[in-house]
Amino acid sequence: MDNEANEQAIKDSFFTIVSEQLPEISSEDFELIGRAYDYAKTAHAGQLRASGKPYFEEHCVPVAIHILELGMDSILTCAALLHDTIEDTTVTVEDLQKQFKKDIALLVEGVSKLGKIKYRGNERHVESLRKFFVSVANDVRVVILKLADRWHNLETLEYLPKEKQQRIAIESIMIHAPLASRMGMGKLVGIINDLAFPYAYPDEYLKAKKIMDSLVKNANETVKKMHRDIAVDLYNSLGYSPKIDERVKGIYSSYKKLLRKDWNVEEIYDLIAIRSIVATVSDCYQALGVIHQHWRPVPGRVKDYIAVPKPNGYQSLHTTVFSGDGRIIEIQIRTKDMDDFNEYGLASHHNYKNSSTQKGTEKESFAWIEQLRELQNSELTTADYYTHLKTDLFKNRIFIFTPNGDVVDLPAGATILDFAYAVHTKIGEHAGGGRINGKFMALKTPLKSEQIVEIITNSKAKPSNKWLEMCITNIALSSIRKSLKTQRLNQ
Ligand code: MN
Repeated sequence: MDNEANEQAIKDSFFTIVSEQLPEISSEDFELIGRAYDYAKTAHAGQLRASGKPYFEEHCVPVAIHILELGMDSILTCAALLHDTIEDTTVTVEDLQKQFKKDIALLVEGVSKLGKIKYRGNERHVESLRKFFVSVANDVRVVILKLADRWHNLETLEYLPKEKQQRIAIESIMIHAPLASRMGMGKLVGIINDLAFPYAYPDEYLKAKKIMDSLVKNANETVKKMHRDIAVDLYNSLGYSPKIDERVKGIYSSYKKLLRKDWNVEEIYDLIAIRSIVATVSDCYQALGVIHQHWRPVPGRVKDYIAVPKPNGYQSLHTTVFSGDGRIIEIQIRTKDMDDFNEYGLASHHNYKNSSTQKGTEKESFAWIEQLRELQNSELTTADYYTHLKTDLFKNRIFIFTPNGDVVDLPAGATILDFAYAVHTKIGEHAGGGRINGKFMALKTPLKSEQIVEIITNSKAKPSNKWLEMCITNIALSSIRKSLKTQRLNQ
């Protein structure tokens, strides 16, 4: 096939996918996607990917397909087609605003800003970096767009130089996958981690893969037989055939579990799970009872995430049973709504209603995504839902860069001294002053978001009573009080 025919074939198959994934799309929106397609293709004309293939067809189109696979709408599909135009072509945000809806232009602008955020390997500040990422995105849809972009970049990592492969892979595991997890997009978490793992930590990957392959092979017969038996049991009890499938745990999450269990494979029970999707919540509990009558449950391993969902909204019943032939197998039971939410999270906006009013145990790091989830569960129409999904959750936080490019998040009003303590107590204790964007400033100077701040330490500097008026964060204030107390005792 010549190039032109090939490109037409890609276009045709893309619009077939659009029609399949958005069956109720209006002709207006269909036309809008068509315009975005042609506009982005023209903008990227002549550009090639690292693979040597045309940039638009081999990157922008696959990203848009991923957006559709994640259950997103026509606006995000347009933004996906256009997502690299601001960064990589002469197109400006104003051009996009003139040509398309304002929303689309803002989404593309947002994703372009995210392209500049890099993880530099400092785990101490990784949580601040995740918050900064969401704050810069300023809209959950921008984060989802960036995740789809990253998904495709990871699929084509083989064409990049080795150091770049590893940097992108580790960044994806540290930043992108955790964000997908907090948005409840379980399917995407697995995809990102499993694509990145072999490049991020090649030795660990090979070790885990070897163990996994042999475990899966050994358990295969047992799982097949149990699958059949569960199908019969549930049909007899519920009066219909629920959807049942077998899920092999992803390689990266298996590896994390192996690490936690000291590579003791006997302690990994959920390597292969049998999942059944039943009609109602009460059917979930009925199915659990039926399964426990047939197979003895492993004590202490029945988990009711329906009554008590995980912090990111995940709901399901889990049980682990003795298979009768010496194996232990996990069984998961849930409704279709729960399954959609567990797999697609915030992206699965279609008619999801939380069936439970109880909330899971909340870790602090989930608090901000919890606010997003409350929006998700409130009675908003799809259109309202999107406009309310603005992530101005961090309007009271500022994000400060260290000279190394790490990000530290602080409350608005925080000073150089607060920053010094946030970086490290020892640095706080000997802070003499700081440079803001290269300019020397006093410790009490309040900071503004996205400034680069370098602390000047001085071995003679030490906390004094005056310091208590120079900062606002608890971490700084309590460290200073502690030092003052020690100073008094030593006098
Ligand atoms: Mn891209």
